[in-house]
Amino acid sequence: MDEAERKMRFLYALRSRGVTDARVLAAMERVDRGAFVTGVFADRAWEDVPLPIACGQTISQPSVVGLMTQALAVSPRDKVLEVGTGSGYQAAVLSHLARRVYTVDRFRVLVRAAEALFRQFDLANVIALTADGSHGLPDQAPFDRILVTAAAEDPPGPLLAQLRIGGIMVVPVGQSDAVQSLIKVTRTEDGYDYEELRPVRFVPLVEGLGQD
Ligand code: SAH
Repeated sequence: MDEAERKMRFLYALRSRGVTDARVLAAMERVDRGAFVTGVFADRAWEDVPLPIACGQTISQPSVVGLMTQALAVSPRDKVLEVGTGSGYQAAVLSHLARRVYTVDRFRVLVRAAEALFRQFDLANVIALTADGSHGLPDQAPFDRILVTAAAEDPPGPLLAQLRIGGIMVVPVGQSDAVQSLIKVTRTEDGYDYEELRPVRFVPLVEGLGQD
């Protein structure tokens, strides 16, 4: 299978799983997922499956990345926070849709590797930081959009507080070892609206920095 055919199948899989937003599909077409998957799984990068990355973490399934990005409804003026850089793939997709993307991970090793890829692909509007994302990034708040790519038991309070009024947060919520629910939170003038989107499965949001 040549590259064009792989890409066509990839986009077809995304569409058939409900990723229909033209801007999201275009952004995903621009990002070479193969570069974000290293080692023995690299040749499976164009399949619609989650794959292992360093530090015992995973790069999410592309259709889930697409559905989350679509639910986030990012506009070109938005300042976005992603919690859970992982491979950097999701942040790279967001970089094509937003004004600026802050992405944080508790593993320095992952942040360094992702930064190298952002440089390689000239994604100058992405800033990657090693931090415990459950506290958000108070210095850069408020955010127009927040995407959490690790599962929390509840939407973390500091992240809710760092969402601009009218802003949207997408977060998987649930016990780490059970099926979680993808939740879309919209901040209104006087509170928060919650919408349950679909069942998902993510690695858990863990407090504190990682060893690596
Ligand atoms: N978005 C990633 C996949 C994320 S996997 C991608 O596109 O590849 C979930 C990531 O969340 C892991 O890398 C894990 O280290 C990170 N994580 C878990 N708890 C965290 C926390 N409290 N703060 C920051 N990152 C966290």
